[in-house]
Amino acid sequence: MERVWIKEIISKTGESVDLYGWVDNRRDHGKIVFIDLRDRSGICQAVFGPWSGKELYEQAQKIRNEWVIKISGIVKERPENLINKNIDTGKFEIEVKNLEVLNESLTPPFEINSDGRNIGEEIRMKYRYLDIRRPRLSANLSLRHKVVKFIRDFLDKENFLEIETPILTKSTPEGARDYVVPSRLYPGKFFALPQSPQQYKQLLMVGGVEKYFQIARCFRDEDTRGDRQPEFTQLDLEMSFVKREDVMALNEKLLIDLVHVCAPSKKIQQIPFPRLTYKEAMEKYKTDRPDLREDKNDPNLLAFCWVIDFPFFEKTDDGGFTFTHNPFSAPKEEFINDLMEKKNIEGILTSQYDIALNGFEIGGGSVRNHKSEALKKVFEIMGFNEERILNNFGHMLEAFSYGAPPHGGIAWGLDRLVTLLSNEPNIREVIAFPKTGDARDLMMNAPSELEKKQLDELHLEIKKNKK
Ligand code: ASP
Repeated sequence: MERVWIKEIISKTGESVDLYGWVDNRRDHGKIVFIDLRDRSGICQAVFGPWSGKELYEQAQKIRNEWVIKISGIVKERPENLINKNIDTGKFEIEVKNLEVLNESLTPPFEINSDGRNIGEEIRMKYRYLDIRRPRLSANLSLRHKVVKFIRDFLDKENFLEIETPILTKSTPEGARDYVVPSRLYPGKFFALPQSPQQYKQLLMVGGVEKYFQIARCFRDEDTRGDRQPEFTQLDLEMSFVKREDVMALNEKLLIDLVHVCAPSKKIQQIPFPRLTYKEAMEKYKTDRPDLREDKNDPNLLAFCWVIDFPFFEKTDDGGFTFTHNPFSAPKEEFINDLMEKKNIEGILTSQYDIALNGFEIGGGSVRNHKSEALKKVFEIMGFNEERILNNFGHMLEAFSYGAPPHGGIAWGLDRLVTLLSNEPNIREVIAFPKTGDARDLMMNAPSELEKKQLDELHLEIKKNKK
């Protein structure tokens, strides 16, 4: 017989079904054994009793939590007084006629039939493959899938192309430390993992792609403060022949539609999303990602807002200048002359737009400098000499001199958005295999040492005992 998902039994009263899954719980009541069977779609009660026969009944008594079983039986309606309102299949149960043990399980290191919030995170991460069996985590992963699918379908209809960009690449100046990969073929040289696909997506615009997006993995070797992950996922997108308003309008529509479809119990506080300048946000809320919720106790309220008109540059400790957001951004149109003449530097505003949700920054982007001369001025203001500019960004300057179209884009922190939609307290709850707060993978035991042979091949020597 064909497999039936547990959630489907509610429409199969009286039918004989084959169910597969894990034993969530077993209760032995003497003459009757109850098993709660769990698959990805839900949980249902299976009952072993006199109708099962002695052999089957004894088999049921031996079963333990997390064993993998197949049961065949009849879907029955439960009597009114035995309905379990806590589960979707609570009006039904399976009268078991046959049982097959597909695999036994050791006793799990923690319970799986709870929401898991009281279990230490280290042990949850070490046994993450067990942790994600719990319905709370499984629901988060399925919400994440829905969100990503919605984004793909929406952008496909808008004529975007999803394009993969390299993971082995060159350092990009996004303000964080790079993860690097030593090159075997070129001694002493390294690839960097992308902090974001920023340069590639702009080069795709030079390449005539016009509308690009990617569900992109990004890597930043930052000291893992609170809720950051060394690798995280962005919705990254870029468009040609657009102004700031076009990118903002598209993203606002995408977010609104996405919430309606993927998280229908949520209410968006204000549409169109309110806009604040950086100056207003700082004066009024003392932060550039204000939490505008009128009722902060309402778990279903979403208060999006745009923050615009950020200063392009800020002073560094040594008296120079660095960019506040993205060196590839264009200034607002009225400041192009200032940029080109390198004057009024602290007064130049960037075309950057950030989007905040309930006090978290969930995305940001800008219109870019698509002319080499303008981009070069940014690096000059940052104090880079000609040689360094050419070394680090020569490829971008060159590309832009072959007819780069005006373009702009944005990236969303996808993990953060899904976290907020699922009311989870941190992004690790919506990532299948996250790193711990101190940047380790306890399940795979990474990072780990390399064998001498591998180090030799990579032309690397480890300095011992140096901190
Ligand atoms: N690449 C930028 C970031 O990762 C986003 C963008 O400007 O598109 O923050």
